[in-house]
Amino acid sequence: MTILATVRLTQRIAVVGGGVLGTMHAVAARQRGYEVVHLEREPEARGASVRNFGLVWVSGRRTGAELRLALRARELWEELGAQVPGLGFRAAGSLTLATDDAELRVLKEAAALPDAERRGFELLDPAAVRAVNPALRGELSGGLLCRADAIVEPRQVLPALRRYLAGDGYQWLPGREVVEIAPNAVRDHTGAWHQCDLVILCPGATFTGVVGRYLRYLSRDGVRRVRLQMMQTAPMGERFTTALADGDSLRYYPAYDLPGRRQLAAQSPVAARSRAQLLLVQRADGGLTIGDTHEYSEPFAFDVDEDAYDHLRARAEALLGVPIPRVQRRWAGVYSEVDPSVAGAALYHRSEVEPGVVLVTAPGGRGMTCAPAIAEETLR
Ligand SMILES: Cc1cc2nc3c(=O)[nH]c(=O)nc-3n(C[C@H](O)[C@H](O)[C@H](O)COP(=O)(O)OP(=O)(O)OC[C@H]3O[C@@H](n4cnc5c(N)ncnc54)[C@H](O)[C@@H]3O)c2cc1C
Repeated sequence: MTILATVRLTQRIAVVGGGVLGTMHAVAARQRGYEVVHLEREPEARGASVRNFGLVWVSGRRTGAELRLALRARELWEELGAQVPGLGFRAAGSLTLATDDAELRVLKEAAALPDAERRGFELLDPAAVRAVNPALRGELSGGLLCRADAIVEPRQVLPALRRYLAGDGYQWLPGREVVEIAPNAVRDHTGAWHQCDLVILCPGATFTGVVGRYLRYLSRDGVRRVRLQMMQTAPMGERFTTALADGDSLRYYPAYDLPGRRQLAAQSPVAARSRAQLLLVQRADGGLTIGDTHEYSEPFAFDVDEDAYDHLRARAEALLGVPIPRVQRRWAGVYSEVDPSVAGAALYHRSEVEPGVVLVTAPGGRGMTCAPAIAEETLR
């Protein structure tokens, strides 16, 4: 209630953080007529928002509030995609693939969920899977088509949105780290003060610096960080019609917390150790973004683990039935999330940490998907 009251009196908003959450808050604020000053400590955002798959991922969301948030965000992405072609939005859908009977059973259960229609789920046999995505020439038992899933281009989204916002009422200040927050103003590391009526802090997984003083709010929600490994290949000539996920993804996404999940065969030791699942998205230039792994214990490794990459490459090649192109890029990324194992876990963290200062972070592995809807909830 306090947050809402503050927003109604606001004319000028300082958004701190140039990732997708901060940028979508800037978009939502401008759409509602507020002036925005937008500060990012790096010359260009280089956190989770540019390191992800660009999956607007509805399929795996938990029934209820999480699915509602993702579906609303999907609508907003599509609306923005129509206005900002640079986002690379495409309603490509996804296929989650089963390679044995146990995985197929989970897909059948998911296709029978009461909200399967809202997700655009359809259970497909191997021939139908190949009819939807002819690039899949490997061994399959079946697939779950999700028509609601979509793709954006993570390396393009932030600059494209800023170009859309450019003009009176929007000031983008890269290379400015916010180091102090006072009533109605923030100070960046150059000493410049930026007047505002409301501060929206979207620091991603950065919990030091100016955010450090608000750690108690984050701890209260059980916010933690997660590190993932990713790679991207050279362009592949053939166009993929959908995004892809393998059967290991059934272990991670809450929508698949169904009776059949308990019958899944053990993961390979490498996959189990790196908590790997295969997600594969073809980029607009034809390259394949492939991941991922999950590391939960800090301090995180500073280097990347080739065993996990070997596993992911082998999984991709088994499903595609052909070698993937040469890997050109490897990277790791870190996101923050409200620990989903904590009872009653929120979908993300939002708190008014001081009068007129709202901290919004920790959307986890759904942050790219849900950012526009989260921003809408903050500004509503
Ligand atoms: C490898 C990987 C794959 C993923 N895949 C997907 C996916 O396909 N779909 C999906 O929905 N989600 C995905 N996610 C999750 C999603 O990327 C994140 O939830 C989301 O990007 C978080 O956005 P953010 O803006 O909160 O954080 P960030 O992108 O980290 O941005 C925060 C920004 O704040 C800046 N900042 C911090 N402190 C200050 C300060 N004091 N002053 C100024 N600037 C500051 C930082 O420099 C940074 O640029 C993935 C995440 C990773 C790591």
